[in-house]
Amino acid sequence: MYLSFRDRGASTTPPNSYYEPPEPRVYYCPVCGEECHTLYTNSFGEIVACNDCLGSVDAEDYFDEEDEE
Ligand SMILES: [Zn+2]
Repeated sequence: MYLSFRDRGASTTPPNSYYEPPEPRVYYCPVCGEECHTLYTNSFGEIVACNDCLGSVDAEDYFDEEDEE
């Protein structure tokens, strides 16, 4: 949750000893479990891949391989 300093207000500002710089949050891909910064969704908004596990294949290569089976 993000709060700006203005939203916190002077009366609710914690003492300096309490303040810790926010750690950069790490996100993990629900598909492959790897650390990631971009998630890719399908047209239903479901996560299908992240920047780490997303792959692509040329349509011609893909269907040519299927035909060979
Ligand atoms: Zn992933």
